[in-house]
Amino acid sequence: MKVVKACKTCSLISEEDKCPRCAGDMSKEWQGYVIIIDHNKSEIAKRMGINENGKYALKVR
Ligand SMILES: [Zn+2]
Repeated sequence: MKVVKACKTCSLISEEDKCPRCAGDMSKEWQGYVIIIDHNKSEIAKRMGINENGKYALKVR
């Protein structure tokens, strides 16, 4: 079973050891997630500084 991790830099959720988007470190310690399907219309995406659709952790430790 693969461990799903979240990027410490951009919060992207992935199973990779390095973030596929920004090459940042991944953390196993994260809580909650949002799925951004239209970042242009999403208040959450704006608040989190997300400019690409995808699945993001709300809290990464
Ligand atoms: Zn990242």
